[in-house]
Order: sequence, then C-alpha cells, then structure tokens
Amino acid sequence: MASEAIHYDVLIVGAGNAACTAALSALEQKVSVGMLEKASKKDRGGNSALTGHMRFVFHGVEDLRPLIRNATEAELQSLIDRLPRRTEEDSWDEVMRVTNNQSDEDLLQVHVTESRNTVHWLAENGQDWVPSIGAQALGDNIVMMNGGGYGMQQRYYQVLEKRGLKMYYDTSALELMQDSQGRVTGVVALTPNGIQTFTAKAVILACGSFESNPEMRARYLGPGWDMVRIRGVPFNTGDGLKMAMDIGAMPYGSWTTCHASPQDINVPAYTVPSSHALAGGDSMDRYVYPYSIMVNSNGERFADEGEDTRGRTYAKMGRAILTQPGGVAFQILDAKARKLNLYPSNYAKATGAKANTLEKLAEELDINAANFVRTVRDFNAAIQPGEFNPDRYKLDGKCTAGITPRKSNYSLSIEEPPFEGWAVRCGMTFTFGGMKVDAKTAQMQHVAGRPIAGLYAAGEMVGGLWVGNYASGSGMMAGATYGRIAGREAALAALT
Ligand SMILES: Cc1cc2nc3c(=O)[nH]c(=O)nc-3n(C[C@H](O)[C@H](O)[C@H](O)COP(=O)(O)OP(=O)(O)OC[C@H]3O[C@@H](n4cnc5c(N)ncnc54)[C@H](O)[C@@H]3O)c2cc1C
Repeated sequence: MASEAIHYDVLIVGAGNAACTAALSALEQKVSVGMLEKASKKDRGGNSALTGHMRFVFHGVEDLRPLIRNATEAELQSLIDRLPRRTEEDSWDEVMRVTNNQSDEDLLQVHVTESRNTVHWLAENGQDWVPSIGAQALGDNIVMMNGGGYGMQQRYYQVLEKRGLKMYYDTSALELMQDSQGRVTGVVALTPNGIQTFTAKAVILACGSFESNPEMRARYLGPGWDMVRIRGVPFNTGDGLKMAMDIGAMPYGSWTTCHASPQDINVPAYTVPSSHALAGGDSMDRYVYPYSIMVNSNGERFADEGEDTRGRTYAKMGRAILTQPGGVAFQILDAKARKLNLYPSNYAKATGAKANTLEKLAEELDINAANFVRTVRDFNAAIQPGEFNPDRYKLDGKCTAGITPRKSNYSLSIEEPPFEGWAVRCGMTFTFGGMKVDAKTAQMQHVAGRPIAGLYAAGEMVGGLWVGNYASGSGMMAGATYGRIAGREAALAALT
C-alpha cells in the first residue's frame, strides 16, 4: 500500500458527465467528495468530452431561454421553428420504438420525466447551450452544449474544484472494499505512487462501459467486435462493471448490443479529449447515409438507409456495416447531394472518390462494378412518387418498392454525374450492458435481489435503458439525470 487510507464521504469513480453531475449533486448536500480518474488531467472527461448534444424534453421557447445565453427572441424562435417541442410522450415513444419496446420502463420513466429539470439544473450550475450548427446539425437536437462535451466538461471541473471537489488523475479503481455486513466502504486504486486505499461512506461508479476492452467485446458482442475501432477514449475497459460483479452486483440490460455508427474508413483506433479538441467536432462521423444508398464491396445494398431519421438509426448502422465483407461500406450520392447541400461540413475531409461514371467510381472504390451498376439502376427504378425532403426532424415517406432491402424514406435517385462515394467502417461508441440499479435512487442491486449498501451507479454503467439501438443525445442526458440522482442519494446515505 502506498500510504494510509484517504477518506471522503462520497467517492466517485470516473470523471465524465455522469461522474461530474454526481459530484455536483453530492456537493449540494455539503458532504466531502473525491473523484478518481484513470486518465491524465490533459485527457480527463471520458467519452463525455467528445460529445455534442443532450436530448431532452422541452415545450417551447420558455424551456430553451434559460439554456442559451444572450439569445435573441428571433434566434430562439428559429430553433422552435425547426422543432417546436419534444414532449415526455414523444421521448417515451421514441425510446420504445428504437429499442423494440425493450427499454426498462422504470428507468425510462425517470429519464423522460427528469430530462427537462436536469438541463435547467445544469444551466443553474454553470452550463450553457448554443444553436446546433455545422457538422453536428445533421443530428436532430436543435441545441448543442457550448463548446460541445469538451466545453461542458471544462465548465464542470471549474465549478467542482471551486466547490471543493478533490480529483485524483492517473488513478484507476481496481476493486471495491466491503465491511462484514456487505456495505461498500471504499475502493482500492492504482495511483502513480502505487496501490492506494480510498475509504468512503458511499461509492458511485461512473466509469463507463466496456467498449475499449477487446476481450469483453468479443465475449459479449461476438466475433468481429474484438478488432473494431473505437470512437472514444481507450480508458473505458469495463473495470467498474467487473468490480461490481465481483461483489455480486446484478448485470442488467443488453450485453450483446452496443452503440456503433458509420465512421470514416480512416477513423483512428481511439480518440482522446486533448486530440479531439484540436481536431474539433465529430470529424470522423459519416452521417449523410440517410440520403445515400450504402453498398458493400460486392456492390449490394444491405440496410434500409432511410428507415427512420438519422438520429434514430445511426447507432445501429455500425453493426450493419461490420457484418459486410471486410467490414467496409460505401455511401453513394450523385451531384444533387451537393446542389441540395446535404453534406455535413465534416465531409470536407472524408475518404472517398468522385467520378463521372458509375463504372469508374466502382473501380476507384474497388467495388464489383457490374453488381454496383445493377444495384443503382434497380434502386432508381424502385423510387416511388412523392417529394424528397431531407428534413432531419421528420420522415418524408419517399420510399422504394420492389427491392430488398427497401428504402423507407429520403430516396434520391443516383443518376446525375459526378457521382461520389465515401468509404466507411463501423466505429464503436459504447456498450449497452450495465448494472441493475434502483430507478429512483441509482443504488446498485445485488443478485440476491436486495440493494447493495453504499454503492451507486450512473452513466453508461447503468444497464437497461438502451437495447439494440438508441436515439442521438440520449447517453449524455440519461447520464446527467442518473448522475444527479446518484450523487444526491449517495450523499444522503453518507449523512445518515
Ligand atoms: C465521439 C463520440 C461522440 C458522442 N456524441 C454524443 C452526443 O453528442 N450526445 C450523447 O448523448 N452521447 C454521445 N456520445 C456517447 C456519450 O459519450 C456517452 O453516453 C457518455 O459520455 C457516457 O458518460 P459516462 O460519464 O458514463 O462515461 P464517460 O464520459 O466515458 O466517463 C467514464 C470515465 O471513467 C474513467 N474510468 C474508466 N475506468 C476507470 C477506472 N478503473 N478508474 C477510474 N476511472 C475510470 C474514464 O477515464 C472516463 O473518464 C458520444 C460518444 C463518442 C465516443
């Protein structure tokens, strides 16, 4: 052991959005709070520091005004013109729709009813939002965090440090400690100075899911996932999940599905917050696909690119791409895409090719040309009458008939040269499997069917909300809501 135990009322593992909201909330109860972060100070913030949006319930201008500093009424109105409201019913229906009715109802009820309160609470605690613009604007959230998740995380640290939070960087939690009654009493961690014991009256695990652990990816998600590239940080290796399961906590939710989206073929193996801040934006996201056809290297389509709005399909589209030969796909559009301004700005640096004929494009991208030309011809012929409308908030119903897979919306013919094709692969965002928590208190549950005293979870460590798919901006929102609950409940438990 490095030295004597270090004690806090509440100890939080992780330093992303879920951890920081937990810390804010715990500090409101006037307890002492310590935070352990595996990454260095430079790369603190987890995947949360790489994000853009939160998806929350709002009823109109009144709900946006507190979030956006110095916004004129005209600016606020222009946002509302894009999407007038997102009600609790909309939010509930949407999650149930994308998860095939498999989301945990108790957790979802809290997520849906608390999101609006949570963003207002965040605004009272130093956070602010801006109108959603640029590459991020292809999403279906009308506002994004000021400076994205990176800006949000820096504001959290400023506020938290002022309020007395003590942070330990380069410090990895290794195992949970318990007393003879089974109450969690602290964490053993690896620090730059060796093994250190941190004792606490309550521990909150907010250290992400297992997306950065190839062994766990292969074990739970199956073949092919071990070699997948990661959109986010290399630090989320399932440590919190393993520590919790080691003391009998109940795994929960979908351990065989995850969030994975289309990324540039050259997406790096990982991204850390410091390099992301330099690159700016989600530069590797390739989300024009709803307006394209996607083909594999055999020249064949394999998914309904327009099944739903982009924000409700992108998180499962990575899996569809991973199962194609070589794990590669191509997004194909014609000259109309440029004229209609369909490309997000991050396509300026996308990997792809341009050609005046389909045959030449196929040659450039190494796609089976004969199949490709036939696929495009059949697709064009299958497009049904109706108006193409690339509205990111609603479906246009412009579909195909008589081809498989069907394209349900946003069908735009591919006939006007030059043709463009973008090479994409699957990029893994985070995993959906997590731990069972009490929906009202975020307290972790034991496999024996009772709560574990002194142990709470938040963020992607909570299992049960997302199954197979997800709606964009939900992870940060649910993480903040459950972080706030976990922080308050852990502090109250510490005070008794
Ligand atoms: C590129 C990208 C873009 C995204 N965009 C969005 C978006 O716009 N909106 C949205 O809602 N979601 C988005 N997501 C998903 C979002 O990042 C997650 O839902 C959210 O960040 C989860 O928050 P968290 O606090 O649970 O985890 P994280 O923010 O990942 O934090 C986990 C923390 O735990 C630390 N940690 C891990 N193991 C240990 C250990 N043993 N000891 C100590 N610390 C440890 C990590 O270093 C990290 O700081 C995006 C993800 C990526 C990768």
